[in-house]
Amino acid sequence: MANESARNAGTNDGKNQSPMAVLVDAEVDGARYLLVRMPKPERQGPPKHALSLRSPSNSADGPPSERRHRFGDLRRVLVAEGDSDARLRLLHLLREWGFYVVVATDGIEALGFVELQQPPDLFFINRSLAGMNGIELCGRICDRFSEHPPHIVMMGRPTGRQVVVESLESGATEYLTTPFDEQELRARLIVAVRALDRRDYLISSREQFRDQATRDALTGVLNRRGILEILQRDLEGAERNGRSTGILMLDLDHFKNVNDAHGHLAGDLVLQETARRLCRKLRAHDCLGRYGGEEFLIVVPATNERELCELAERIRTSTESEPIPTGQINFRITFSIGAAIAKPGDRSKAKVIAVADEALYEAKKLGRNRIVFGQ
Ligand code: GH3
Ligand code: MG
Ligand code: MG
Repeated sequence: MANESARNAGTNDGKNQSPMAVLVDAEVDGARYLLVRMPKPERQGPPKHALSLRSPSNSADGPPSERRHRFGDLRRVLVAEGDSDARLRLLHLLREWGFYVVVATDGIEALGFVELQQPPDLFFINRSLAGMNGIELCGRICDRFSEHPPHIVMMGRPTGRQVVVESLESGATEYLTTPFDEQELRARLIVAVRALDRRDYLISSREQFRDQATRDALTGVLNRRGILEILQRDLEGAERNGRSTGILMLDLDHFKNVNDAHGHLAGDLVLQETARRLCRKLRAHDCLGRYGGEEFLIVVPATNERELCELAERIRTSTESEPIPTGQINFRITFSIGAAIAKPGDRSKAKVIAVADEALYEAKKLGRNRIVFGQ
């Protein structure tokens, strides 16, 4: 029989609230021992899973049982499974874990979901699907999403190494042997969701960086790099659709006077408002960029000389007639505009810009607040 009397192994004056080790005098079968006993850790909320779970549904809201279970965060999952029992079992579990599930019974039907505007980003595919087998379907999905590969779980009966290798080579992320163990599937899915979260984070960071690299901080329109990329893309598109691409190079007249007379801040406000107004004048496919300090470049796809001149004239007259109010002052500003057209097949953006630039220079020379069409 053990007979214990305890005393603290350290001081505990009541300020230190952390659990303390305790030294225990123990007598076991007549012999005396000094033992160190660690107190049992206090349970704080539900035990943390070794694999961290994401999603608002895992936040402090909602009953604990729900928090533990619903880690799918409504991610879209496609289950492509021909066997109805297996399909239902998977569907039931995935829904319980918080996924948004769509099902297909054969390969062709499954392929249809890939073309949705918001396609699934997690696929369960049975290797032996009718219509199009799992391996082929997997390859098609990977071709379709080559830039952002989804997570693909290939499922099948226990099989030789060759089939697993073939599945992974066709683009599957993992091979799941059926019938699957529920706990193992859950753990695998937690890992899959975490990988998809990381993928989405990288995609959105990349888009954010890209946006920062191509946008002008002052006016919010594209910067020189951004608008030149659009011009290049449109020139290449024009070659395919046989339409001309127009550009307008606009330069505010005597803008230095605005800064000199009213300060740089007033000049900034005028530039911001000018960009806003220009945007409103454009069609959906036209694009505006700030080419330099007080110069803007507009790219007009699929146009002709007449349309381009009409647009330039609309911009010129409205700029002249609608002063920009900033504080006490109404700024009357005007634009000089150089216009140029690139015929389908003219792929050199440098060439068309040089023509517009030359025309703009001419417009300045001729007295400003006018349009010159470059040839
Ligand atoms: P011109 O009719 O010949 O084009 O005369 P201009 O005064 O518009 O041209 P100039 O090249 O002499 O001066 C351009 C001015 O644009 C000078 C510069 O301070 C101003 N500018 C360029 N970028 C900015 C900016 O971001 N903010 C402000 N406030 N001014 C800018
Ligand atoms: Mg200038
Ligand atoms: Mg100017």
